[in-house]
Amino acid sequence: MANIRHALNARRADDFAAWYQEVISAAEMAEESGVRGCMVIRPWGYGIWERMQRLLDDRIKATGHSNAYFPIFIPLSNFEREAEHVEGFAKEMAVVTHHRLIAGPDGGLIPDPEAKLEEPLIVRPTSETIIGDAMARWVQSWRDLPLKLNQWANVVRWEMRTRMFLRTSEFLWQEGHTAHADEAEAQDHTLTMLEVYRAFADEDLALGVVAGEKPENERFPGAVETWSIEAMMQDGKALQAGTSHYLGTNFSKASGIKYQNKDGGESLCHTTSWGVSTRMVGGVIMTHGDDDGLRLPPKIAPQQVVILPMLRDKPEDEPLIEYCEALRATLASQNVLGEPLRVLLDTRPGKAAAKRWDYVRKGAPIIIEVGGRDMDNGVVSLLRRDRLWDEETGKPAFQTPTREVAGQTVPDILADMQASLLTEAAERREANITRGVTSFDEVEKFFAASRYPGWVEVQWSKPTGEALEKVVERLKEHKLTIRNVPMDAAPVDGTCIFTGDKAVERVLLAKAY
Ligand code: AMP
Repeated sequence: MANIRHALNARRADDFAAWYQEVISAAEMAEESGVRGCMVIRPWGYGIWERMQRLLDDRIKATGHSNAYFPIFIPLSNFEREAEHVEGFAKEMAVVTHHRLIAGPDGGLIPDPEAKLEEPLIVRPTSETIIGDAMARWVQSWRDLPLKLNQWANVVRWEMRTRMFLRTSEFLWQEGHTAHADEAEAQDHTLTMLEVYRAFADEDLALGVVAGEKPENERFPGAVETWSIEAMMQDGKALQAGTSHYLGTNFSKASGIKYQNKDGGESLCHTTSWGVSTRMVGGVIMTHGDDDGLRLPPKIAPQQVVILPMLRDKPEDEPLIEYCEALRATLASQNVLGEPLRVLLDTRPGKAAAKRWDYVRKGAPIIIEVGGRDMDNGVVSLLRRDRLWDEETGKPAFQTPTREVAGQTVPDILADMQASLLTEAAERREANITRGVTSFDEVEKFFAASRYPGWVEVQWSKPTGEALEKVVERLKEHKLTIRNVPMDAAPVDGTCIFTGDKAVERVLLAKAY
């Protein structure tokens, strides 16, 4: 195998964290803002988020939800109504106390004591309580149910350990909120939305996630059940990629979400909430990125094909641009993966080879370079981002189809890439889940044995309360957490590795982001 000169300095195998940071800056996705935990999302990064928004929004609307918007500020007393909820979020809340600045004694501006708010406002970390208030107004009778809302918004959680996209103090997300007449329907809806997330994560983002229920200690504050999709990153760590909560009547009690039932009596609604955030962008990097930068599943690539004419700043450029423009138009008129193909003809000044590496680092799925000789031969030089290198020569693996063939086959290549990235991620995940571990000793040894160990599936007796706390503490000593109880796990057939009691479930253990 020839020596390959990769487009990044950091290597995943050597320093995964440094590699992640380098991808984000080399692909011009985001940068630190100067405010701890808050990031500037650059056009390429935001373009990926917009694609995610579009695809997920379609799925949310297809399941009968409407978008609405609620305020960023929530009165403290409103937030305090649900005891577990406020306790869960109290440690990470930004609070607004004043509405005016005045000159201070040292010349700078200070909050005006005269302009102190009577009641502090919190910057929403999530919107159950304020949306609950609206639901209480909007739901009167059983005819108003189910009420299915979603909002796209920013939220703030004052995180102590932050990392771009994965855990930021301000993040962008959608939060769905629904109210139902009874428990069964609300629980069913919680799982419907979990499945929407699974399909989005697998079919659009090609992540290959595991859907399942979170253990009691990992529940959302105020939830009765929390379900998640978990994705395996290339360093073997888990990323909670989305959550769906069944909230019982906890929030409808707190906000008074009641309805007149068919018998004329009054009943409390059962509510759900569910969210997916910009964390997904980080998940895509850590699932699909390689030592040359990002690789984007075509469905979420801001540009699926980039055409780079080798311009010389001479009159010959003109026919070359025309030659490329014809290909651009042919591609742009086609559909791929259910949408119009996104193709960019980049005629900015600059060397085509330098631009090629920029788009390689950005993860554009197909790069097409066209020089004068290509044009004379009626061909183009086509590079698949997911199969970048010719392993034998150590050079980029260009194909040289005729322009007509390229115009016809590019949609198929994109569809193939979308599918093969999912296969790759799902196979890697399966290869890195170790099953059949029957003691905690083995778990310890397993995680001590390698740097990127992956996940372990074990059987447990589902302890609760203090017994669960002990298990959680023991795992914490090894920086491990219980990810979820996979929905499609095999039946149990053994004893709990923590308590020795008869097992009732299988759970996934992993280090996590
Ligand atoms: P939650 O409301 O806690 O269930 O979170 C909803 C979604 O937002 C989950 O998919 C989390 O993974 C994600 N999330 C939670 N905290 C953060 C954060 N600080 N930065 C980015 N995403 C987050």
